[in-house]
Amino acid sequence: MNPSRRPLLVGNWKMFHGDRSGAALAAECATIARAVTGVEVVVAPPFTAVVSCVAECRDGFMAVAAQNLYVDAAGACTGEISARTLRDCGCSWVILGHSERRHFFEESDQLVASKVDAALGVGLNPIVCVGDTRAERDAGHTLLVVRRQIDAVASLLMSAKVPVVIAYEPVWAIGTGRSDRPADVEEVHQAIRACLRERHGRLADDTRILYGGSVNPEDAAAIFACPNVDGALVGGGSLDSRTFAAIARTAVR
Ligand code: PEP
Repeated sequence: MNPSRRPLLVGNWKMFHGDRSGAALAAECATIARAVTGVEVVVAPPFTAVVSCVAECRDGFMAVAAQNLYVDAAGACTGEISARTLRDCGCSWVILGHSERRHFFEESDQLVASKVDAALGVGLNPIVCVGDTRAERDAGHTLLVVRRQIDAVASLLMSAKVPVVIAYEPVWAIGTGRSDRPADVEEVHQAIRACLRERHGRLADDTRILYGGSVNPEDAAAIFACPNVDGALVGGGSLDSRTFAAIARTAVR
């Protein structure tokens, strides 16, 4: 990690802990956030647990992200939720373009860009996920794919008035228990930063790029040692507070 960028750890709870257990886990994560000085901690619960998680953020050590939003500000879109509603509930971040949304819900680069635009429009900080599939990696197309996904949001990032975070998540590493090799992670993160630099100049050096994909307490230190890795988006490892705490401790410089 580069000392000029504050490490960021985001726990993506997916469809877990949407009930009362979410409030309990949020309280434990807030305790972790207070203990790991210098590391920014964000939790992304299911929508039903957002308000109880926000209540645990009162002292400002932790923040809450939504896992998705819809592009429209309001209207007849049954089952969807707007950026403004999320912001008014106390969310300050939103995960967009997660590979599960790109693949299961066929979200295109253009739709992801519209969602980033909607988030920025109300001052929500987007965490934009990009990543290659196993087939794309095997074909040597990783950098091409990631560049295309970044290009789709590049102009929005340029005019953003709140910090935007990129999360590189190789699709084949998510939920498999096998994180990517640190050298490969660093190569992709370097390429992402170079791509941002072409568009944004020095702003690229302030943009945090997270790694996601089976981050665990054993592998985290080697991944965080990469100069262009600025933290992690953690799925499975964020569902248990002891595991999340162990990962967070490795992010402390
Ligand atoms: C994720 O879903 O963003 C993720 C990184 O999951 P996991 O850590 O379980 O691979």
